[in-house]
Amino acid sequence: MRLRFASVDAPDYSNLLACIRCGLCLSVCPTYHTDHLETQSPRGRVALIRAADEGRLPVGSPTFRDHLYHCLDCRACQTICPSGVRVGELVLAARAEVESERRPGWAERLIRLVVLRTLFIAPPWLERGAALLRLYQRLGVQSFVRKIGVLNKLPGRLKTLAVLDALLPPLPARPLRQELAEVTPARGERRYRVGFFLGCVMSVVFAEASRSTVDVLTENDCEVVTPKGQRCCGAPHAGEGDMATLRALARHNVDLFLGHRLDYIVTDCAACSAQTKEYAHLLGLEPAYAAKARAFSAKVRDISELLTEIPLKQPAGEVRARVTYHEACHLCHAQGVRTPPREIIRRVPGVELVEMRESDWCCGSAGVYNVTHRERARKLLGRKLANAGATGAEVIVTGNPGCLLYLQAGVREQRLNARVLHLTQLLDAAYRSSRHGDAGRR
Ligand code: SF4
Ligand code: SF4
Repeated sequence: MRLRFASVDAPDYSNLLACIRCGLCLSVCPTYHTDHLETQSPRGRVALIRAADEGRLPVGSPTFRDHLYHCLDCRACQTICPSGVRVGELVLAARAEVESERRPGWAERLIRLVVLRTLFIAPPWLERGAALLRLYQRLGVQSFVRKIGVLNKLPGRLKTLAVLDALLPPLPARPLRQELAEVTPARGERRYRVGFFLGCVMSVVFAEASRSTVDVLTENDCEVVTPKGQRCCGAPHAGEGDMATLRALARHNVDLFLGHRLDYIVTDCAACSAQTKEYAHLLGLEPAYAAKARAFSAKVRDISELLTEIPLKQPAGEVRARVTYHEACHLCHAQGVRTPPREIIRRVPGVELVEMRESDWCCGSAGVYNVTHRERARKLLGRKLANAGATGAEVIVTGNPGCLLYLQAGVREQRLNARVLHLTQLLDAAYRSSRHGDAGRR
């Protein structure tokens, strides 16, 4: 049979055929639970992509594209599938096919140019954008705008600005990338030389959390190298089917990090670790990069993996808190990292870890899903916060900036008595409290 998708990034047809339609994946798919529609299930998505590949469904159909973008790419279906169908990957590959043939209108082209090919290409551009937002907050414009609710009164798609504004937490004074030295020495005798892949959003929005990551690493006798020239991992581009930009970013980061002698490459952003681990596959057919990309990806670790591997120095200080853990999809489903973060939380003296129901369910953030599919995302967020609230935890710990951003926005909106922290902030608090001799309370 002549297949419709023939590019190097085409959905893997043999993997499409591997679906035996057992329906096991329906039980874990958040969009199926929300809509109860076969087309919003992993099995339905596989069937749609296969139909398009076999020429039974027009690739250019807006409905087909909509169905592809309704998927969160949370990959819960991949974890449970007995046939090894990689639904999330198939959906992303199908998006890339659709985008390569589509001619979007000028407004969408402009947004893509600004967001994907300017802000999320080079950190300095993102930092300039963040500086404007910081000014917007510091001058009190944000409070005023929220008070009079003007953004909600904007017509049509401009209302999206209100959604974006509600998500925006107070920004740090400076992005961490500008503050960190290229080399931060180990606190004790150096055991490892570690490259720090500082995620774009972690640097400009959650600088405090990534500062904690660096402090935790140095506390564990790692010398931390943060190459200034690093660029976005490409996860936002993968989500929007922009494979050319994704590959260009991957080549740049591979060359840059391999230029330093590193034992590991670590990141505290689950989306970044998932994406950079895929560089080996992504550049696998390029003779000049295949071996280098394999070497790069083999060194990549999520911060929780690295700390349990080296292994973690026992914190002496206490953090007295009831904590629950939300698993980022890119960590538990895309990378299978489930135990290390819990192990680390349990190692913090004074912490009581209480598991929430559905800890590995998507919180609804999912890249830009919380903006593009606002109502669906809000249902997932409500479900997540209800599960977290039922544990009575005062701290929700997670390991991905998208989850931090969305959970914090939900906690603010619902005025919940809980804090949302990155894993390394909890650990750092324990190390700090032992250094300063006080039992910390988060
Ligand atoms: S669990 Fe796997 S094989 Fe079964 S229906 Fe879902 S995708 Fe197909
Ligand atoms: S990736 Fe998530 S939302 Fe998409 S089909 Fe799989 S379980 Fe459903």
